[in-house]
Amino acid sequence: MSCPARHWLARHVAGSLDGGPLEYVRFHLAEMKCEWCQANVDDLERLESETDLEPLLERVGQSTLQFLRSRTRP
Ligand SMILES: [Zn+2]
Repeated sequence: MSCPARHWLARHVAGSLDGGPLEYVRFHLAEMKCEWCQANVDDLERLESETDLEPLLERVGQSTLQFLRSRTRP
């Protein structure tokens, strides 16, 4: 029993995996409890949540900048 490729894990995290590969990855994580792949999934999930947060942080940063600018204008 070999580990699924990392791009399968990435697609699993993104929710775009289906059919046989999805069954295989699910089985591998849930039944085989493969620590290596679980660590990979955790890593990918963290990456994805950081990517999702980025535009929000950017907006917050910009509005903070605008706020500071409005405060420093005469
Ligand atoms: Zn594995």
